[in-house]
Amino acid sequence: VKIAILGAGAMGSLFGARLAEAGNAVTLVDVNAAHMESIARNGLVFDDHGDRRVIPIAATTDPATVGRVGLILLFCKHLHTRAAMKSAAPMIGPETILWTLQNGIGNVEIIQEFLPPERIAKGLTSVTAIVEAPGSVTTNFKGVSESFAWPVAGAVGPGLTKAVEIFTAAGLPSYLAPDIDYRIWRKLVVNAGLTMLSASVNVGIGPVGEGAAGQRLLSAIVAEVAAVARASGVDLKDADALAYLEELRRKAFDHIGSTTVDLQNGRATEVGAMNGAVVAAGKKLGVPTPVNAVLTDLVLLLEETRRVRLSPAI
Ligand code: NAD
Repeated sequence: VKIAILGAGAMGSLFGARLAEAGNAVTLVDVNAAHMESIARNGLVFDDHGDRRVIPIAATTDPATVGRVGLILLFCKHLHTRAAMKSAAPMIGPETILWTLQNGIGNVEIIQEFLPPERIAKGLTSVTAIVEAPGSVTTNFKGVSESFAWPVAGAVGPGLTKAVEIFTAAGLPSYLAPDIDYRIWRKLVVNAGLTMLSASVNVGIGPVGEGAAGQRLLSAIVAEVAAVARASGVDLKDADALAYLEELRRKAFDHIGSTTVDLQNGRATEVGAMNGAVVAAGKKLGVPTPVNAVLTDLVLLLEETRRVRLSPAI
């Protein structure tokens, strides 16, 4: 199966590295010319838990040069999903399937503007990665590596079954998960709570929940996300959602959330696919989400005011 990874930053490069090392025909496709050129010329420098390898892998900024593929793995950030999908047309044939492992909700709706639901799989992954420099990525994820997929249209076809097998064989353990919506919403709780709240006060994932105020805010965010999940048909209980968030907060205590890194690097955040998407879904379903609305605007305000930020007062 010919595979294209559309959006090959931290995660796309990591998945590409493992797939290429296992002998698959994989091409990285990304608008970041410096990153693609470095990989195309010198190979991908991959720091795999301290084991540094250089992996030859095809990389391009031009989807037309890739031609039609069997599988597109979508790994750009939410804000870029529509642009990436528009550019993907030359890689899409009548059999092409697409699997998204992006965080947040709302990506699938955009992808459906370009592909029928039978050929889209939604998903999530526990793996993490960071880009060190153009052409170079690192993973030092210590937990259980697992990725999940389930077709948007519900019926599992041979293409997706095969994709899950290929990924698993390449050291990316992957599973077909009929409870995908539960898993996606449970992860959204963690992103909307820990990732966004820690970014809004510029601290790590652990410390944001150590005090009483942090715990009150996290509980309020989680209760709203879980209420919206239940209103959309996913049976996510407040207590289970909060327990999951606390488990990950302890496990990833020293981790710096990706939104914090986005803000530090002057990039737009994924708040629109997280708390912002919860607010939008809540509005449609008649579930009030005032705390998530404030947190969404607070993160957007951090983006808007980054040029006039004062040095920390304390
Ligand atoms: P990243 O910013 O490192 O990579 C995204 C890439 O998409 C960038 O290289 C960017 O140039 C590219 N891109 C932007 N517009 C594009 C376009 N129009 N066409 C093609 N490529 C385009 O981000 P990441 O950390 O790899 O995250 C990707 C997704 O995975 C996000 O939804 C994120 O929330 C999720 N995720 C990340 C991690 C992690 O540890 N980094 C873990 C789990 C899930």
